[in-house]
Amino acid sequence: MEHIRLSNAALEGNNSIYLFPEEGVIIDTGDWLPGTEKELRGELNDHGVEVADLNRIFVTHWHPDHCGLVGTLQAESGAGVYVHSADAPIVARDEQARERMDTQQRTYWKEWGMPPEQQTSLENIEGIDEEHQPTVTTIDDAETFTVGEHTLEAVHAPGHAAGLCMFEGTIEGEYVAFTGDALLPEYTPNVGGADVRVEKALAEYLDTLRAIVDADYDRAWPGHREPIADPAARAEEIIHHHEERAYRVLDVLRRRGPCDAWTVSSELFGSLEGIHVLHGPGEAYAHLEHLVDKGVVVEQESSGEAITYDLADGVDERLEAREDHWPLVS
Ligand SMILES: [Zn+2]
Ligand SMILES: [Zn+2]
Repeated sequence: MEHIRLSNAALEGNNSIYLFPEEGVIIDTGDWLPGTEKELRGELNDHGVEVADLNRIFVTHWHPDHCGLVGTLQAESGAGVYVHSADAPIVARDEQARERMDTQQRTYWKEWGMPPEQQTSLENIEGIDEEHQPTVTTIDDAETFTVGEHTLEAVHAPGHAAGLCMFEGTIEGEYVAFTGDALLPEYTPNVGGADVRVEKALAEYLDTLRAIVDADYDRAWPGHREPIADPAARAEEIIHHHEERAYRVLDVLRRRGPCDAWTVSSELFGSLEGIHVLHGPGEAYAHLEHLVDKGVVVEQESSGEAITYDLADGVDERLEAREDHWPLVS
């Protein structure tokens, strides 16, 4: 298995592609922006593989930096494109599925209190091949695939995206997972903004992280940057990070009084640019929604389109009465 490091800068940037050269199999493709395709072709060639040699392309999730080139690569190679059933319609560019997501997104942007000019800035995020419509084979949790001497098993890992699918197996004597954006080495994967189709995104993502802890992989090969030597420890670290963030969200409400997700996001992350205009308030929303479910935050009646949130009555007393303030999010 070969680790291809792309130097792309779009979206989260520095995508990692995994190649099984003998079998003509890759996991993820990188985005469709100028430069990425050329770089990927060069990297494949360095490992003795032409695009025409590709047989199968496994996709971890629908985000353009992970699957932007599937149409191009499939048109040239005829390779099968394998995507979890929840993300398959988006990757296959099903018009209805894309419109539904678009409408959902716009509704959320208003509910989060995102200023109109920021909404406009999000309308032209690029990275998907609009010329070649891929034919997609849908996969589901626990499906297995033989790749040469290896068996890869699909592991549905929702949260960051509805159809995020990891692939696990034993490679070179190590029990590993290709985690896409379910587990990343340097920053925490976005929840809430990256895929508005996920209901209760934070709860879903925490379940995914706990499953990674339980799996106790020897190594994770993430969708961006370098491998993770102790995936269980990294997953624990991200769970802890969300605990801390939950307390910070409560602090914002305590300090500012009732406010919307955009305001909470500004307090947590400051002013945002590019894709983070989506990720910041989305993550604030995922936390607020989760805290509403936990009974420590309440939604207020709001006159405008934005939803405002406040601390639930007596929440500080309740938190104080607990010997252990932990865990708020799990
Ligand atoms: Zn992603
Ligand atoms: Zn990503």
